Amino acid sequence: MSSGWIKVGGVALACGLVSEVVYFLYKRYRKRGWQYKGQSESESRKEIEEVLFFPDSQVACRNYFVGDHGCDNNNCRFTHIPNSLSRLYEFINSAKKSVDVCVFSICCTELADLLIELNKRNVTVRVICDDEQINIRGSQIWKLRKEGINVRTDNSSYLMHHKFLIIDDSLLLNGSFNWTRQAISGNQENLMALNNARIVSLYKAEYKKLWEKFDPKNTSPL
Ligand SMILES: [Zn+2]
Repeated sequence: MSSGWIKVGGVALACGLVSEVVYFLYKRYRKRGWQYKGQSESESRKEIEEVLFFPDSQVACRNYFVGDHGCDNNNCRFTHIPNSLSRLYEFINSAKKSVDVCVFSICCTELADLLIELNKRNVTVRVICDDEQINIRGSQIWKLRKEGINVRTDNSSYLMHHKFLIIDDSLLLNGSFNWTRQAISGNQENLMALNNARIVSLYKAEYKKLWEKFDPKNTSPL
């Protein structure tokens, strides 16, 4: 074989090796890019598109679905059959680093207690709600504040009427659902769960905007 052909063969072999290395690095980069810390590849890629409809016929037992030790109450007055509220518990309880709540009215003890538990697990919990709802009967806001959860309100005669929350900056739950017993057991309500990155980023930006706008430093007392 002539030295010319040997050179051509060498160059072709080198190109092949380089392309293999580039492809390997590309695959590794893509894999890491998809994954969040602590999350498996299959978990991070999984698409979530669900809708929860209310009312539920009974209130779901929080201990049974997301409690550390389940429910050992033989006369439990809550249901152990999965429903929309139990699914909501599971979504919220899946939080590993943050829960950003932006809901008009928060009076549901079970959901407030779940936020308090997450706060104790060092999940960063932030709450935005309407200022006219914080002192209504059953409001959980003062309990949340007493437990060290940061709550901000709109301080306006207009309503902070959103009902959405963002879990771990990657999952959005949004709909008509207030965190009240009436919404759980009486009203026709919906709550959509999705992890579409573009939609979630829009809600994250809105949350950031409202969180800063409702900073007590930036709002004057009524
Ligand atoms: Zn129970």
